[in-house]
Amino acid sequence: MSAPRLEIHLEHLQHNARTMVNRLASQGIKITGVSKSTLGMPEIARTWVAAGVHSIGEARIESIEILNRCELGVPLLLIRSPMLSQVERVVAHAAISCNSELIVLKALAAAAACQGVRHGVMLMVELGDLREGVLAADLEAMVVLTLALPSLLLVGIGTNLGCQHGIAPDPTNMAELSRLINAMEARFGIKLEWCSGGNSANLPWLASGGKPGRINHLRLGEALLLGREPLTRKQIPGLYTDAITLVAEVIECKLKPSQPWGTPHSTSFSNEPTTSQITPQITPAQPMTRRALLALGEQDADPAGLSAAQLTIEGASSDHLVVSGATMKLGVGDEQRFQISYSALLRAMTSPFVSRCFI
Ligand SMILES: *Cc1c(COP(=O)(O)O)cnc(C)c1O
Repeated sequence: MSAPRLEIHLEHLQHNARTMVNRLASQGIKITGVSKSTLGMPEIARTWVAAGVHSIGEARIESIEILNRCELGVPLLLIRSPMLSQVERVVAHAAISCNSELIVLKALAAAAACQGVRHGVMLMVELGDLREGVLAADLEAMVVLTLALPSLLLVGIGTNLGCQHGIAPDPTNMAELSRLINAMEARFGIKLEWCSGGNSANLPWLASGGKPGRINHLRLGEALLLGREPLTRKQIPGLYTDAITLVAEVIECKLKPSQPWGTPHSTSFSNEPTTSQITPQITPAQPMTRRALLALGEQDADPAGLSAAQLTIEGASSDHLVVSGATMKLGVGDEQRFQISYSALLRAMTSPFVSRCFI
């Protein structure tokens, strides 16, 4: 098999999804499986649908289009606000999109009317992480406008925390979302289907006894794919953290001095030298360490997001990953498996040099 490659364990992914679907169902919460870090991989979306997710979420219209062709039998949700230049594609391929701009809503409405469809709209509310969403005070005006556009169907409101500033979902901001949906329903005499509380970062709040209130929907990516919640990167109890792993091949393995020598400056990927210690000459007394070079680099994965038992990641440049380990038994041609973070997964999936295989 070729390396580097992502090994995708579909049964483990199915287990993760089914576990979360069941766990959250007991709290009245349905799940959108967010496959964006896999670029909308149909096999994964199908696995999640079989596990009972309500819908599939994607950030980019290209991935929505791929999944739409797969006829998954569940709604597709565009979780990033549509680009004004892409509204026609959005209404043609996504059942629902997340929105926070009046001008985009008007354009979506025009495109939907033109195509003879009704497009679902989830209005995003800013609750402190300072990424997408209208301020709570402006929500009412957005609801008024959405309700006035007959080719749009207001399906609910949502929020997103944790991604930009790491602001955690907590009893205060989650209660605020419930208060807002109640207020909108009362003000306009309507019933909104979805109150979408957030992403994988909402799971610690729920696990610690947080009361869902009106929240009946979460959009989960990292939890389903990697079995971790993003706020502390802790494993979610009962989920696999190795459903997707990255395998790379060793291209050099040698005993080398433990410190570089010469005059240190910026490296190819950092403005800081990796060491402040100036060692002009190699010193014979220096301890030697066993170092292996893998054919994997910044172009393939985020090196900071790789880990393997008994191995220290010494660093990486475009095409090389340097690892060390006293008990390391690697030789040239051997393969090494790594657990990966969300950022490493995202980049590996995006790299044309990393192949994918299913087990
Ligand atoms: C990426 C994203 C998600 C999924 O986030 P995870 O942390 O992977 O669960 C949910 N909602 C929005 C709006 C996103 O951008």
